[in-house]
Amino acid sequence: MSFSKLGLSDSILKAIEQKGYSEPSPIQNQSIPAILNGKDVMAAAQTGTGKTACFALPILEILSKKKPTKSNQVRTLILTPTRELAIQVSDSVTTYGKYLPLKSSVVFGGVKINPQMQRLCSGVDILVATPGRLLDLYSQNSVKFDMLEIVVFDEADRMLDMGFINDIKRILKILPSKKQTLMFSATFSNKILTLAKSLVNNPVEISV
Ligand code: AMP
Repeated sequence: MSFSKLGLSDSILKAIEQKGYSEPSPIQNQSIPAILNGKDVMAAAQTGTGKTACFALPILEILSKKKPTKSNQVRTLILTPTRELAIQVSDSVTTYGKYLPLKSSVVFGGVKINPQMQRLCSGVDILVATPGRLLDLYSQNSVKFDMLEIVVFDEADRMLDMGFINDIKRILKILPSKKQTLMFSATFSNKILTLAKSLVNNPVEISV
């Protein structure tokens, strides 16, 4: 299987080719078509399997076909447990989306909030965030979710291990109920499965 058979457009294929990827990894082969079809996905994937591209590539494809963002609105939210992962995911989104007219941003705690607020003013297509800082920005009206189409939980098991369950519940309450939900986790323990059941709707389950 090649990337071009997965339903991605030329702008994304060009960026992938420049990264030097010759073919999709097994988990990419399974998740990219499902996400492009609008399905919720629950994927068991360790770091190193190419999991970031599993969600980043189809999200870029979906967003590139639709309307632009309005002030303070976010069309896709990617939640990560740590700032390091947030930066890494954001860098991947930037690289894969370099030929698309989409705007992305990354927010996390431990740094000044004002520059982050300013970057959100005109709205972003993709926001990568850690849970606590996202809630701070929301409480200050800097981020709005009326146009939200997709939410991703990256390394969901680590988010629970780090005690983010209450933040996640608060975030879920402020997101629209109609959306596509993608959950990536290295493991699917009972704790994760309980959370997953309250998040996803008729998901495609993927493991490699
Ligand atoms: P991840 O699991 O998302 O942290 O990705 C692990 C590494 O694999 C990263 O350095 C990616 O750039 C790389 N990668 C992702 N997909 C592919 C692919 N299809 N072919 C080769 N390398 C890839």
